Amino acid sequence: MLKNDMLEQWDRESFFHPSTHLAQFARGEAPERVIAGGQGVFIEDRDGTRLLDAFAGLYCVNVGYGRTEIAEAIAEQARQLSYYHAYVGHGTEASITLAKMVMDRAPDHMSKVYFGLGGSDANETNIKLVWYYNNVLGRSEKKKIISRWRGYHGSGLMTGSLTGLAGFHNKFDLPLAPILHTEAPYYFRRPDLDMTEADFVAHCAAELEALIAREGADTIAAFIGEPVLGTGGIVPPPAGYWDAIQPILQKHDILLIVDEVVTGFGRLGEMFGSLKYGLKPDLITIAKGLTSAYAPLSGSIVSDRMWTVLEQGTDEFGPIGHGWTYSAHPIGAAAGVANLKLIDDLGLVRNAADTGGYFVTAMQTALSEHAHVGDIRGEGMLCAVELVEDKGSRTFYDPPGKVAGAVVAAMLKEGVIARAMPQGDIVGFAPPLCLTRDEADRVVDVTARAVASVLG
Ligand code: PMP
Repeated sequence: MLKNDMLEQWDRESFFHPSTHLAQFARGEAPERVIAGGQGVFIEDRDGTRLLDAFAGLYCVNVGYGRTEIAEAIAEQARQLSYYHAYVGHGTEASITLAKMVMDRAPDHMSKVYFGLGGSDANETNIKLVWYYNNVLGRSEKKKIISRWRGYHGSGLMTGSLTGLAGFHNKFDLPLAPILHTEAPYYFRRPDLDMTEADFVAHCAAELEALIAREGADTIAAFIGEPVLGTGGIVPPPAGYWDAIQPILQKHDILLIVDEVVTGFGRLGEMFGSLKYGLKPDLITIAKGLTSAYAPLSGSIVSDRMWTVLEQGTDEFGPIGHGWTYSAHPIGAAAGVANLKLIDDLGLVRNAADTGGYFVTAMQTALSEHAHVGDIRGEGMLCAVELVEDKGSRTFYDPPGKVAGAVVAAMLKEGVIARAMPQGDIVGFAPPLCLTRDEADRVVDVTARAVASVLG
């Protein structure tokens, strides 16, 4: 293909990139990379540089790039029926089939799935459903939502408020009033180094109880959390965390929204994180792995107990006034059907457990003795290496981010993409679930060399 040498100029002149330093980009100081192709765990830019994408895009390309089965399903759907809406009882073969496939995989007590486009709008839907639920039950004061610091739940007004990361609030007048935040289940960053894991879990539970007591349980509608914190640092919960949190929510009649946008469809080595940690959600948020990002699609899976109330609401108040033009878009749904089949056929959930476990262990073997590596953690096909200035006293770098940024940049020069996670010096990994052991070894080698080159 003839190279368009205007592309870089058009990009800087015309394209407003998300999550980008706009001024640096416009001045040509921030990196620009035009991605042209992808196959397996590799992407290729238009200069022909091949990169091992150890973050699966934004932890979403679960089956890997270049799957012709999904491409063909999308093309076939576009030829046959490019679009029809899902309002007032309409569906397509693809959207109905996908709904059935999602519900076959979801925990038993879940009832129906509502399809949206991305994780943010799915969480927006969840908040509305929680409010609707309490209004139908006549509990008009029970509306606040508790999220965790370092949780990530989206970038919209309400979902950006749920997100517990300052960079997503600053200068946007967020978080909005009905959203509250509680302690992140981040043992490495526990407030007191002497706390055992069990002490820390008790501390998280006590913080939650105190917040509920301060605000009044009759004002709190729901609690939202990722089974494993993702963007906030890739942090598996300390042992017993969810067992301590769930009874508190039950006691105060607070709904549980489990955000499985990253963890859903196999990333933790089980179909859902809810199954892994024995969670009993009222709502589950899904996106990313639902289609492996071959097309935009998300969902809100609703429990039996909420569904009954939603039905009752429409009997009392008429059709539910919530829908997007592109809810259950047939092209996304066709991609989803082909994707979920592939996840099964290729045994990717198993591979996430096996190769993911191998990957985390290999990273620990290679790096845990390093003087500036404070923590190496992971679950399934998720891993993080947290860098510290001083290990004994657990002193973090100040300002945060520069060291992890330098490590990630050094890795990129060696052809491996990792991600510097916000609010810390955390090098994050979330490879496609089809990663092989050889590819895992390469990521570990490149990481170790990059850490050595930046930190000695
Ligand atoms: N929830 C979680 C756990 C996420 O990681 C993300 C995106 N990284 C979202 C929600 C928001 O999804 P989207 O960017 O598709 O709106």
